[in-house]
Parts: sequence; structure tokens; C-alpha cells
Amino acid sequence: MDRLQIRIHRQAWTDMIGHSLEAMPREACGLLFGCLSSAGIPGALTYVPVSNAAANPLHSFELHPQELVRALYGAAGKQELIGIVHSHPRTAPYPSEHDLATLWHTIPSHWIVSLRDPSLPTVKAFAFRKRQQEDFRLEAISYEIVMD
Ligand SMILES: [Zn+2]
Repeated sequence: MDRLQIRIHRQAWTDMIGHSLEAMPREACGLLFGCLSSAGIPGALTYVPVSNAAANPLHSFELHPQELVRALYGAAGKQELIGIVHSHPRTAPYPSEHDLATLWHTIPSHWIVSLRDPSLPTVKAFAFRKRQQEDFRLEAISYEIVMD
């Protein structure tokens, strides 16, 4: 199978990593807006930071509900929600069990910024897919990230 591809604008990439570094040692979260190409390839153009409203932001994230709604309204009719971003301040950029329990699996992509080495942030993007009808667990399929 061909690898899934996703594109991201350089400015969105820079903003996403900058926000993740700023939030340290807490997990950062935010949204990527953009559009799907005619071939169905998601392209992220804009990063919108959202406050982490989790009770324990050192180890989890929860998109602040009001900021989330504001961001979705702000983009409505212009750009689509392409991805959800969060950071892992101390661990590798792979989804945790908790991350895979998200209700947001219909969004094209989930991005994780790892700051295990803050001088060298690493980013991975995944599609979360259902395995089977009856099985509620999701599997993470890694994207090939292309920078625009
Ligand atoms: Zn996570």
C-alpha cells in the first residue's frame, strides 16, 4: 500500500512547534486548518493554538471548549479542520492509548510534536482508523509529511 501523504505549510509547521515549546512542561494542543486537494490529500495551511483545559496538563490534553468553538467558527466557510495537534513534552511522537481513545477519529489527521529533545523537536502525523465495526479501538496509520 502507498503511504498516506499529508502536506503542511511551512508557517503552520513553525507555529505548531513554537506553541509546543512555549507550553513546556505542559502538553500543548491546537488545530490545523486547510483544505483537501482534488486527489483527497489533506493540506494544512494554518495552525491555531488552543489552551489545554485538561485537569493534568502535564500528562494529557483537552482542547479548551470555548476556544475550540471560536476557532471552528473562525474557519467556517474558508478552511476545513484538517488536523488536531498535541505535544508530548517528554515522550516520543506516538499516540498513547488515551490519544487513541479520542472521539475525533473522523478528523483526517492527528499530529504529535515530541519535545523529548527540545532542541530537536520531532513531529509525526497519523490517521486514526477504526479496525472493525464492533471494535472501538483505533489504529494509528502514519502519514508521510510533505512541507510546502
Ligand atoms: Zn498524546
